[in-house]
Amino acid sequence: MKIQEADAKSLLVAQGLPVPAWEVAHTVDEARAAAERFFASGAAQVVIKAQVLVGGRGKAGGVKLAGSANEAASVAGAILGMDIKGIAVRKVLVGPAADIVKEYYLSAVLDRAARRILLMGSSEGGVEIEQVAAERPDAIVTVHADPELGLLPFQARQMAFAMGLDGHLKVAVGIARGLVATMTAYDADLVEINPLAIVHETGPDGAVVEQLVCLDAKVTLDDSALPRHPELENLRDPDEEDPADREAREAGLTFIKLDGTIGCMVNGAGLAMTTMDLVKRAGGEPANFLDIGGGARADKVAHAMRIILADAKVNAILVNIFGGITRGDEVARGLIEARAQQERDVPMVVRIVGTNAAEAATLLAEARFETAASLDEAAAKAVAASRAATAGAGGAGAPA
Ligand code: GDP
Ligand code: MN
Repeated sequence: MKIQEADAKSLLVAQGLPVPAWEVAHTVDEARAAAERFFASGAAQVVIKAQVLVGGRGKAGGVKLAGSANEAASVAGAILGMDIKGIAVRKVLVGPAADIVKEYYLSAVLDRAARRILLMGSSEGGVEIEQVAAERPDAIVTVHADPELGLLPFQARQMAFAMGLDGHLKVAVGIARGLVATMTAYDADLVEINPLAIVHETGPDGAVVEQLVCLDAKVTLDDSALPRHPELENLRDPDEEDPADREAREAGLTFIKLDGTIGCMVNGAGLAMTTMDLVKRAGGEPANFLDIGGGARADKVAHAMRIILADAKVNAILVNIFGGITRGDEVARGLIEARAQQERDVPMVVRIVGTNAAEAATLLAEARFETAASLDEAAAKAVAASRAATAGAGGAGAPA
């Protein structure tokens, strides 16, 4: 689950990391009021940032500075009306603008292969790290945290030196270790600070000092670990969740959208993966991974069918059910119900074996469903149906 910058910053603050102040505004008036408060407390400029769950907001014009409350209001108005990479901006972050001296990059990601948290840092911050990785891989320093002890102080110091943060060693060490602590505390997959920045700040005595602060924050939480952190569920932004993902989550289905044309409805994760493999072996491309789970009733099956059909690329469906706790006749009833409500006619091949398979076969035969006795046969029929549909639609994008 991706969370908004403002929420990600709250998690960092809770771990003791230095983040400049901010407020979230949903309207021009809220943005103006927030800007007035920051100007009253001494800010020379404020920054207004679109809160959308995509990167590159700066390049898209979603990050702007303003020198007065009126200007902040007009800038906020412009950003609130924007569409960034297809997402409507509904809220903005308002904060005192940082006077940036230099931008760095620092992130913690879950390295599944190493089974450890990997810290990545670079003195080339602000830009996209993929670009740095491609053009100047030597400009990125990495270190693995210890699974028990976290990032050890000497590791954090080495990292800070390698990034050229010698002048801010103590704070840099705290931030690097804090990222790892944030990963662990919330079961995050990614905690990214880009830019981590040295900024000029004017103290109460008027003296200008350098500080190292987290100017941007991106945090992705592990969906499977969310039950351990019920309070984080509030950070979900339903406005930006993919409608199919939301529907699947609410229906209790495990659904992952893929790029192919053959919709797959299966019970059990292992069987779902096998089904996808066989579709591929038969020359087709699966449109999704969908596990209806054990013991699914007819309404859940109908729900799954709606989610599959909502993908316009789907032109054939393969249903593969191994009845154990799940009853074959229940699934057959769900399919019949779903087809009755279906707005789009898509060829479907059904294979149901196991509990109540005979009853299922009778129901499906009565309803004139295309069935298959084996999974290989089902996959071959689904791929053939998909090819025929693609050819019928003009042949563009036919699976190889
Ligand atoms: P992103 O483009 O979505 O990653 O948004 P960021 O928060 O990283 O902002 C993009 C860029 O805008 C940063 O790399 C900075 O160069 C600039 N920026 C962001 N906040 C400030 C700020 O407070 N002051 C100044 N001067 N520039 C900022
Ligand atoms: Mn950024």
